[in-house]
Amino acid sequence: MRIYRFLRTLPGLEDLRLDFRASEVGVRESVTIAARTTVTGQDYLAGRVWADSVCHSFYPIDIHRPDGNGIDKTHLRHGVVPTVPRDAMVPAGNPYAVVAGRCIGSDQAANSALRVQATAMATGQAAGALAAMAADRGTDVTGVPMTDLHRVLVRSGAIVPTLPASAEV
Ligand SMILES: Cc1cc2nc3c(=O)[nH]c(=O)nc-3n(C[C@H](O)[C@H](O)[C@H](O)COP(=O)(O)OP(=O)(O)OC[C@H]3O[C@@H](n4cnc5c(N)ncnc54)[C@H](O)[C@@H]3O)c2cc1C
Repeated sequence: MRIYRFLRTLPGLEDLRLDFRASEVGVRESVTIAARTTVTGQDYLAGRVWADSVCHSFYPIDIHRPDGNGIDKTHLRHGVVPTVPRDAMVPAGNPYAVVAGRCIGSDQAANSALRVQATAMATGQAAGALAAMAADRGTDVTGVPMTDLHRVLVRSGAIVPTLPASAEV
């Protein structure tokens, strides 16, 4: 409103009308955890399938330049669907905690894509299942076999990545 009132003081803008304003201000980028794994922009664009993948992510790299000078967007190649590793959700040094959403371990490029709501929700579902399964088994979250986690997620309707043959399950 301060900007609007100021603009109306300028010659020719006396009748300026405000048609729309957003109801809330949101922050795109926030802190990310120091995780056991940090997903990089390169991992993301390559569609890396991690041995501990818990979910997919699907959004372009989308950096709104901090200098205010436009957007750097890099689209995924046709057929590439990146994945999110469990270890990006586990803080380095504390395997008894699991984190979901925009703050998972990722560099700025990967985070600009991973932060969107579909990925945030998928990591939330995986984190919840993982925490419950770890508590049931009396283990930290890295002690839950990936195949067991996937089975539970699929049973509740999640789409999970196919683990690479080399994955420790
Ligand atoms: C302007 C804008 C436009 C966007 N547009 C889109 C879009 O079109 N599509 C899309 O998919 N994504 C969009 N995003 C991105 C997406 O909405 C967010 O990245 C995503 O919602 C993040 O989810 P989250 O659960 O990680 O965090 P949040 O949704 O931020 O949730 C964190 C929650 O924790 C709460 N909290 C914080 N501190 C504490 C505390 N100490 N104790 C208790 N609670 C606390 C907060 O109140 C909040 O409710 C947009 C983001 C912004 C800012």
